Formats: sequence, C-alpha cells, structure tokens
Amino acid sequence: LKVWIMTDMEGVAGVFSFDDASPSGRRYEKSRSLLTQEVNAAVEGALEAGATEVLVVDGHGPGGVDPEELHPDALLLAGRPLYPPWCLDRGFDAAFIVGQHALAGTEAAHLDHSYSHVSIQNIWLNGVRVGELGVIAAVAGSFGTATVLVTGDKAACAEAKRLIPGVETVAVKEALTYGSAIAVHPVKARRMIKEGAKRALARLDEIEPYTVKPPVELRIEYTTGYKAAAERLALKPGVEMVDPRTVVIRGNSLLEVFGMRL
Ligand SMILES: [Zn+2]
Repeated sequence: LKVWIMTDMEGVAGVFSFDDASPSGRRYEKSRSLLTQEVNAAVEGALEAGATEVLVVDGHGPGGVDPEELHPDALLLAGRPLYPPWCLDRGFDAAFIVGQHALAGTEAAHLDHSYSHVSIQNIWLNGVRVGELGVIAAVAGSFGTATVLVTGDKAACAEAKRLIPGVETVAVKEALTYGSAIAVHPVKARRMIKEGAKRALARLDEIEPYTVKPPVELRIEYTTGYKAAAERLALKPGVEMVDPRTVVIRGNSLLEVFGMRL
C-alpha cells in the first residue's frame, strides 16, 4: 500500500496568518514544526493502516516540512522547482492532502487563496472553479489515484467534499474572518488527523479518483495588478487571452496544460 501526501501550511492548526507561513515571519520555524507534526500524524495513521511506503511532498510555496523532524519511515520530496506530477506517475494507492486552505474567494474561509493571494483571482479546470486541492486531486486522479483524506480549515474540508464524494476530512480550525480562526490544539489536531488517515484508508475502495476528462481547459484569471502575467503567458502558442486578466490553456491532458503554464 503506497500512500502519497501533499502538504501545505496555511491549513495547519496553530498557523494563523500569512506571516506565520512566511520565511520572513516571526513564527515561521514554529509553523514548520506544527506542519511537520501534522504530517507525521498522517504518516502514523497510514502506517498503522498498512502502508508500506509513504512519500511526503513539501508543497508549501517556500517549503515548510522539516526533514529531520519528519517521521523516520516517510520519504520526502522537497526543493524547488517542484512541478506536477510530483512523483504521482510512480503509482500510489491513495493520496492525502494535509494543511490545506480553501480556494480563493471562499466564504467563511481562513487564509483562502489559489496558489497566490497576490496574483491569482480564480482558476478553472474544464469549467469547474478549483484551488490547490482541486488541482492536486485532479493530477492524482489522472494517474488513477484517489484523494482519500483532506485536512485543513473547515472551508477547505467542505470544498473537498463538494469535489470528491466520500472523501475523509479533518477540520482543525474554523475561520472567524479571513485572517483569524478558532483552532483546536495542535496535539488534538494530530490525534484527529491520525484517526482520519486510518478511516480514509479503511474506506479506500469507496472513494473514486477525481478526474478531469480530456481535452483539458485550464483557465487562469489573474488579479488586476498581475495583468502583465496574463499578457506574458498569452505569448505562448496554444494560450489564448480571453479578457485582459484571463488566459485559457487547452491541451490533451492535465500535465500538458500545466506544462505549458510553466
Ligand atoms: Zn497553498
């Protein structure tokens, strides 16, 4: 049983702001530890459920997982640049997403954004508005791997449930405002995540991979301040500008369209 774990930082219990999740932030080293411990809980749950291999991907923008603090029986994929398919092409039986936040513009979400809270307004895959968890689940799904566990704030969990019927979720915090949340204690969050991981793998057969059927259309709407990014991307062949902030990239597969964006 091979388990693949994508990680992010804004959806971790005890991480309360973009400053907390930034290398220039006062609490960044603490946030890295909080993230790594939540990942370890997911790894422990996976191992107890029979996983024979667990690969952890350090997905947070500047990197966040502490290699030494990480569970000794997990493998770590880290460093930059890091592009899809993040080793999913090596064949995994299940995918987890730990520390996730909701997509940009979600109601009652904590630190919601889609890849960048500065430059990106919206992303759609074949007409469905998605954020990071949608993209990750779709890439996993393109290799036949189901995303069976999502942890993060309550809004990210709700987003996962809308996208992936039956997915196991663990909400470790709930937004009060965009920049504030009520979180469970990190120790409690880890207990919940470990149990969630076990439940998810026990129900592996009930959860279908999230798939985006080819041909694939990736639509990216930039923020007004980043119109230049849309203009630059539109210079590439196969990329169409549909309004001054929005480009559409079409291809025969998910990896093809993501490859063209990079
Ligand atoms: Zn993120």
